[in-house]
Amino acid sequence: MPSDDRKSVFRTNLSDSLSLPVFSRSGEATELPKFSLARDSMLPETAYQIVHDEAMLDGNARLNLATFVTTWMDDHANRLYAESFDKNEIDKDEYPATAAVEERCWRIIADLWHAPDPGHTIGTATVGSSDASMLGGLALKRRWQDARKAAGKPFDKPNLVLSSAVQVCWEKFCNYRDVEPRFVPCTPEHFVFDGTELENYVDENTIGVVAIMGVTFNGLYEPVKQISAKLDEIEQKTGLDIKIHVDAASGGFVAPFCQPDLEWDFRVSRVASINASGHKYGLVYPGIGWAVWRDKAAMPESLIFHVSYLGGDLPTLALPFSRPGAQVLLQYYNFLRLGFEGYRATQQESLDVAQYISGEIAAMEPFELVSKGDTIPVFAWRIKEGYTSTWTLYDLADRLRLRGWLVPAYPMADDMSNLVLQRVVVKNGMSHDLAVALVADIKSQVSYLETLEAPLPRDGSGPNFHH
Ligand SMILES: *Cc1c(COP(=O)(O)O)cnc(C)c1O
Repeated sequence: MPSDDRKSVFRTNLSDSLSLPVFSRSGEATELPKFSLARDSMLPETAYQIVHDEAMLDGNARLNLATFVTTWMDDHANRLYAESFDKNEIDKDEYPATAAVEERCWRIIADLWHAPDPGHTIGTATVGSSDASMLGGLALKRRWQDARKAAGKPFDKPNLVLSSAVQVCWEKFCNYRDVEPRFVPCTPEHFVFDGTELENYVDENTIGVVAIMGVTFNGLYEPVKQISAKLDEIEQKTGLDIKIHVDAASGGFVAPFCQPDLEWDFRVSRVASINASGHKYGLVYPGIGWAVWRDKAAMPESLIFHVSYLGGDLPTLALPFSRPGAQVLLQYYNFLRLGFEGYRATQQESLDVAQYISGEIAAMEPFELVSKGDTIPVFAWRIKEGYTSTWTLYDLADRLRLRGWLVPAYPMADDMSNLVLQRVVVKNGMSHDLAVALVADIKSQVSYLETLEAPLPRDGSGPNFHH
């Protein structure tokens, strides 16, 4: 029937709808236009039910072992969230208490990361590590430009040195900000970027070097101190003083608690800035991130905007204007609720669960671990070299999906993209009991796949990666 008729049928039905059972009402009992706005309103119960049911077709967040992002918070956090979802983080003048909590949070984080001089540290909440790393990159670039201008040298060809296994946000930074990315390849011998041959990548146009604490592909840490020592050598030979930004999206909230002796943060004097995702191991729902600069020299004043704040002055450097304020309060709730010991216990439990699962996978005939989950609680495995099978890790991912588990398979970074990995991200809420169930499902799905005589057809839908 023509669409106008459909709309008028829908309209006459609306008045009858109130007394009809939910799924017999128009909206539920009829198909609605998906890409244009319907002319008339519908009952809120019906609209709620439709959206609720549509979202039901998503995967179950708690079984989503692909994401790094928090999928469980406790009931008090949920209550606080419901009380504060109307707060706009930018309204510092109207919500001075939330603004003060934001500052407390980044100062607590700066302290966790051993910022040497709290009086001179600068930090901000962001929406995630993507915009936090964008800010880190911008500060490196502006600092380099200022120094080049002061020396009367050209400043039009900046480059940034980073591993080819960086998260996509760094490729965006380089693309959007006209910075040449100089990717250091991952090789079987140097599986993570460790400073080897760094002298071939840096020059007077290098704005900085990125080190990753928790490579997204496999969870491994890049050795910040070793990279820094290599930059010391380079400085001695060439006079180039190149700073490091640490992308600690996930490790920033794990290493301080579970690997306290590992020096990757402001204890390494070349580290100018660090970002982390509050919504990853900061244990807050999406989206919140944090960026902290060692001192005012690392964050040029020319990038800071000033807003009036209760008659005073509040520096702001976040990229978006309006953004949710509730997550800042949730971060502070976690800091109070958990304290250092609570964070340590939570992350250690996730590390234990990750190593239990990786141990079981390592013991299975077809597999070989690429990492075991002893840095961040994230590990990856591959099919053993020389193991012949009719199935792939993509097939295993599909089979696990039938059981509700979301465990992605994907190719390794560019230079090793013929290597296919499968990865599990263990988060708070993945109990040992659930881990036992996952291992049992992996075992039974592998047994099933082993019975296949011919490869399964693939539908060509690519892997969904880059969390
Ligand atoms: C997740 C991640 C990002 C992006 O962070 P978001 O918080 O998702 O914006 C950047 N870098 C690394 C290493 C990551 O793991």
